[in-house]
Amino acid sequence: MRLFLSFFVALCMSGLVQAQEPVEAVSGESAPAVVEAAAAAVEAAVEESSPEAAGTIEIPAQEAAPEPEPCAAPVNGVALVTAGEVEADLAARVQAYVQANLFTTVMLLEPMELAEGALDGQAQAAVARKKENHLAVLVLASLEGNPHHGASYPEQSVAVINVAALRPDPMDAELYGRRVEKQLMSAGGILLGMEICPNPLCALSAYMDMERLDAKGRNYCPPCQDRVRKILEAKNALLEPGAAQ
Ligand SMILES: [Zn+2]
Repeated sequence: MRLFLSFFVALCMSGLVQAQEPVEAVSGESAPAVVEAAAAAVEAAVEESSPEAAGTIEIPAQEAAPEPEPCAAPVNGVALVTAGEVEADLAARVQAYVQANLFTTVMLLEPMELAEGALDGQAQAAVARKKENHLAVLVLASLEGNPHHGASYPEQSVAVINVAALRPDPMDAELYGRRVEKQLMSAGGILLGMEICPNPLCALSAYMDMERLDAKGRNYCPPCQDRVRKILEAKNALLEPGAAQ
């Protein structure tokens, strides 16, 4: 996927170069068609001009290269990906919640197979999926028998949430969804540059056990909301409520 992205970016950049400097900046290897077109334009211009003026011909851009297609810049935001046996309706629900309450686009990626190596293994697999427009990658992994709720890898901007450890028994879909949403709001915020919040109702507050996790809020307190908006605005990733599709 990184290769594909590089290719896409190279295409965009090649288009820009053609538009701005139709003759001088184009190399034969990267865009032979444009070079041929430019050479033809030079020949045509030389034929029309007097010999002494031939060295200083200016060629309009539209004659040398076609108008490039506008390049749609990828949207900045947070990526969400599942690994292993994670319920699709859970992923859809938490994606919508986090996008609406973290004020940034949450991109649901194609599911991953469960990688070797518990939490660390899933994190490394997610790093390989991370693109430039992903400010963070949040992994929902189902690691049966693993008691850890999750782990954060700030240097890679990746966090892994172990939904198996959060799944209520007997199943309570609402409680399950809220637990996962709290984890994503907390881990996602920290990866974006937020800090643990002393307000026990804030999703960014620390917790020691499942009881405290269930008691804390799944949204940010107002000061944390202001702070995360500023962070996202600076990263060109702010998505105001109501703007999401
Ligand atoms: Zn807070």
